[in-house]
Amino acid sequence: MTQTDIGARGDSGPETARLVASRVLDVPDFPKPGVVFKDLMPLFADGAVFREVVDGIIAHHGRESFDTVVGIEARGFVIAAAIAYATGVGVVPVRKAGKLPRAAYSASYALEYGEATLEVHQDAFTAGHRVLVVDDVLATGGTAEATMDLVERAGGTVSGFTVLMELGFLGGRERLAPRPVHALLTV
Ligand code: AMP
Repeated sequence: MTQTDIGARGDSGPETARLVASRVLDVPDFPKPGVVFKDLMPLFADGAVFREVVDGIIAHHGRESFDTVVGIEARGFVIAAAIAYATGVGVVPVRKAGKLPRAAYSASYALEYGEATLEVHQDAFTAGHRVLVVDDVLATGGTAEATMDLVERAGGTVSGFTVLMELGFLGGRERLAPRPVHALLTV
């Protein structure tokens, strides 16, 4: 394992980018050969840094700009719950297939490493609810695209999208355009 280069940039400025970079570990060949897994557990485990990162996400969007936060399973749940608690809004999990107990919408997509299906409860949002979507890593953008599609099918409006880290060379930001992407660290 090696630490991610601390010279990286991000949409909340170089200081935040450096902070995130200082708490990411590169894990080569996980979960399969050729993939460098970006492990953000050290960031979650550092209370002061995690709080600063969460506060930075809220400051970027503005605490009045969203009614609900969506976290993408599983690491997105950690970020979404913290934002929801800090701002007093609710949190909606977007889950992997087969985990939700009631009627759900499904969206399938290709991952950097494999295929996946995500689901959200059909009654998760009140019509027109403004939804902030969060996840740990943006790679090819398939996960985020499927999630935003699910939010809209369930009646929500995506008001923002934040990831702690973006793998710029995989083109996720371009795939999601014209939706704005807020990445604290871009490599
Ligand atoms: P993608 O759909 O290709 O943008 O992949 C993003 C999703 O897969 C996110 O939920 C990430 O947690 C996970 N992911 C994809 N690639 C990586 C990576 N290299 N390191 C860590 N997580 C990743």
